[in-house]
Amino acid sequence: MIDVSHDPTDRVESSVELSVVIPMFNEEEALPALVERLRPVLDGTGEEYEVVAVDDGSTDGTAEHLAQLRAGWPQLRLVRLRRNSGHQAALTAGLHSARGAYAVSLDADLQDPPEKIPEMLALARSRHLDIVYGVRTNRSSDTGFKRRTAGAYYWLMRRLVGTHVCAQAGDFRLLSRNVLDALKALPDQPQVYRLLMPWFGFPSGEVTYRRDPRVAGHTKYPLRKMILLAVDSIIGFSVAPLRLAIWLGALAFCVCLGMLVYTLAVHAAGDTAPGWTSLIIAVLFVGAVQLVCLGVVGEYIGRIYTAAQQRPTYFVADDTAMAIARQARKT
Ligand code: UDP
Ligand code: MG
Repeated sequence: MIDVSHDPTDRVESSVELSVVIPMFNEEEALPALVERLRPVLDGTGEEYEVVAVDDGSTDGTAEHLAQLRAGWPQLRLVRLRRNSGHQAALTAGLHSARGAYAVSLDADLQDPPEKIPEMLALARSRHLDIVYGVRTNRSSDTGFKRRTAGAYYWLMRRLVGTHVCAQAGDFRLLSRNVLDALKALPDQPQVYRLLMPWFGFPSGEVTYRRDPRVAGHTKYPLRKMILLAVDSIIGFSVAPLRLAIWLGALAFCVCLGMLVYTLAVHAAGDTAPGWTSLIIAVLFVGAVQLVCLGVVGEYIGRIYTAAQQRPTYFVADDTAMAIARQARKT
């Protein structure tokens, strides 16, 4: 694995207290507003901090823009991924390479307010919490469709994964070093953080905030990616679909049994059951159930296959902090 961010000496060498991890995919338009709001907040904390901007294979001017910004903002650190790996993988790359005692994950589009970061940090310190979730009190900035699908998603996840899944907590959260280390110890697989974090069971708290509209650009989560996230969430955290497959099979069996009893009864009455329609429905029904069950089993086998290959979910092309550290070691 060519991943320089897993250097175990990172933390020892660093005195960074707070890392702010921001995955970015084609966020050139949002960058100026982001810096304008984020920098005063972080400078105002008086903490030693770093901003880990993960460029998730952007094809617009994001990388160049970040490089220019870095010239006047030494705390800005660029982690460039070789190709677009997806939001959760980019977040993983950023969290793996974060050197702070605490890390906050933030979206680049200012839907989550950076002004809440000091509050999160203060809460974690005062109550010795390992995770502080940003919980959305208002999602009026999201479309009705997004709100409804998000509502259905959290409803399902709370039933499948458990009630400790925090509805309305997205990816704006603070993690302590304990959590970051626990995360590094996990095998490098695609993660759905909003489910993984409650699953860890670390002491946690909440900070509420209003979800603002995207400051510029457009969403990088089209319907296709939302469906993939939902499938990853269900398959990654629950075997319920496999159980459902058993129940579907049992239902098909009962239906067939019913039809058998009916046919025998009709036969006993000296008649024959009418054929073609019922036959074709029965054949198609059983066939459909089998295909659905096969598909469910296939999804799980696919994930076992991917996990067995042990391929990393992201590749770091370069990381400014690591490059500086390597240079310092050489001289
Ligand atoms: N993002 C990313 N890689 C992707 C898609 C998104 O790094 O493949 C980043 C994106 O730049 C943003 C964050 O993930 O900072 C959340 O994406 P977005 O705001 O588009 O999602 P939404 O808020 O619409 O759900
Ligand atoms: Mg957004």
